[in-house]
Amino acid sequence: MRCGIWVIVKRLKLVLAIASIIYLCSFSSTASNWGFFGHRHINHHAVFLLPPPMFGFYKKNIQYIADHATDADKRRYAIPEEAPRHYIDLDQYSGKGVLKMPATWTDAVDQFSEDTLQAHGIVPWWIMVMHARLKKAFAQNQEEEILKLSADIAHYIADAHVPLHASSNHNGQKTDQLGIHGFWESRLPELFAEKNYDMFIGKAIYLNDPLGFIWERIYESSAASDTVLQFEKQLSQQFNDHERMSYEYRNNKLMRQYSEKYSSAYHKKLNGMVERRMQASILAIASFWYTAWVDAGQPSLPYNTPSN
Ligand SMILES: [Zn+2]
Repeated sequence: MRCGIWVIVKRLKLVLAIASIIYLCSFSSTASNWGFFGHRHINHHAVFLLPPPMFGFYKKNIQYIADHATDADKRRYAIPEEAPRHYIDLDQYSGKGVLKMPATWTDAVDQFSEDTLQAHGIVPWWIMVMHARLKKAFAQNQEEEILKLSADIAHYIADAHVPLHASSNHNGQKTDQLGIHGFWESRLPELFAEKNYDMFIGKAIYLNDPLGFIWERIYESSAASDTVLQFEKQLSQQFNDHERMSYEYRNNKLMRQYSEKYSSAYHKKLNGMVERRMQASILAIASFWYTAWVDAGQPSLPYNTPSN
């Protein structure tokens, strides 16, 4: 009988070990964004910051803007050039004494070569490519393109606000914190954003210098990345493994997950950082959409003029 129990216990342990491997594997393949929930949430809320001449069109298509918030991540599996568009490992440069990056693509290529830039990520420059395409789509009244590009640029802008998208230790792989990427950007927003975060952020602003603006956000992300890592490291020493991790069913699969207790403690220690980065993402996205539209000559969009 005892033998039978031990077989069951052993099997259970094996199942849990396999589940945790599946969980960590799923992290490594998807640990590159705010997570499905976060990106949807951000795109959805950005619509409400738009001025009246844009709001009707975006509100009418809000479902599309939210549903396509993670299209850019899906392309990573199909297009090899896609991955570096989502991040920039600034520590790879600061570690070599570079405190400020050349802002423009041309200057950066001159200083570091294109291969180096591609190897460490190109998110700020890719956002500018998307910005130019969105402006052109507005100028040519291409509704489908406007929506597609709005959803896409939003994704890259939101990624640029995630601290671990500005660090080469993006999933804690260098500091024995594997899984922290999804913990910060997926698990915490899923647990706390809907109920606790203030999403009344104000209005989109016109960006005189969109490239300079996105660089500022990326320097903020980079500065916060050490805190993201250090705080979790400190906290992990105050919790034992049973308290830190729990098993939960997600999509009918048993997954090893950071426990709610541990997530709450980390969230509290971060002192509103996730909320502030989410709010900043939303403001930046609406402002990029608005700036592209203004620069395209403020074309009239459908659903904005009252019908007679
Ligand atoms: Zn991404």
